[in-house]
Amino acid sequence: MPRPIPILALLMALTHTPYARAQTASTTHPAFAMHGGAGKILKQNIKPEVEAAIRADLEQALTTGYAILQRGGTALDAIEAAIRVLEDSPRFNAGKGAVMTAQGTFELDASIMDGQTLAAGAVAGLMHIKNPISLARLVMTKSPHVMLIGSGAEAFALSQGIDTVPNEYFATDVRHQQYEKWRDSVAGKPTQQSSADPANAWADHKYGTVGAVALDRQGNLAAGTSTGGTPFKRWGRVGDSPIIGAGTYASNKAGCAVSGTGVGEYFIRNTVAADICKRVEYLHESIDKAAKHVIHDVLVPQGGDGGVVVMDKKGHSVHVFNTDGMFRGYIDANGKPVVELYK
Ligand code: ASP
Repeated sequence: MPRPIPILALLMALTHTPYARAQTASTTHPAFAMHGGAGKILKQNIKPEVEAAIRADLEQALTTGYAILQRGGTALDAIEAAIRVLEDSPRFNAGKGAVMTAQGTFELDASIMDGQTLAAGAVAGLMHIKNPISLARLVMTKSPHVMLIGSGAEAFALSQGIDTVPNEYFATDVRHQQYEKWRDSVAGKPTQQSSADPANAWADHKYGTVGAVALDRQGNLAAGTSTGGTPFKRWGRVGDSPIIGAGTYASNKAGCAVSGTGVGEYFIRNTVAADICKRVEYLHESIDKAAKHVIHDVLVPQGGDGGVVVMDKKGHSVHVFNTDGMFRGYIDANGKPVVELYK
């Protein structure tokens, strides 16, 4: 004899189980993780007071993003707000504090991607926009395009009511000193494609790019990245950070969100962020396995320095890097920020 169907189960079946669905939708635990750049990050090279300030900035950015997620805000909102905190800090290579180009100017790149819709926005070669990540988001939401560059991107910013800042706004003493040292060392020498050449200072990779990945209560993933690029870049060089699939990628379907940092040329050639997510999607690899494969097995033999922060659809996150260190952090199970700088 068939067993009687319990009355509650019957009611739920008849009402298309909205109760059950609402439960799933509203109980996704939000998750948030960031990086602040990878490279030659050695404890002996960082003064204690600088280290403390970097840690405080990362904690502030993490708690800013996570507070938005806790209130039910979107992953995109959390990423934009947290990256703005680090763009406004002079201690990261994004917004204020960006590295200088070979001309002694500042050119900024950023991108953001919505894992739910695959909508994305990117900007490159900005010289007068205080918070590039916010302009990247406007490109995504207020233009029919994915990527805008240079003066065109800035004209779009003006049309959206975004205030501009003078290029010198981004300057800091530290970056000036770094620039002067480089200029003295390369005076008169042409740039070669050899990392042994001091003119190729980008090969001696400097850290500070910022990025974030998030999972919101609705179960949506997103990722974003912002950078001043590589030091002393020239000829309008653009790295991976504003390139969707190279420095930034997010897809709910793949169950994966990535923000990268490192020598962008390698991240572009190897479509690092997309490759990690496609491995998760097609090969059903864990984010840890996929990221380790790309960062260690693919990039290292090519000499591609860098790292990534990756999040899966359950909100687990990993930081994987092949450099001496990576500024990084996440929000732990108790809702507290955890920050690490070294290997
Ligand atoms: N990936 C950035 C670029 O190549 C730089 C960095 O992450 O530090 O522009």
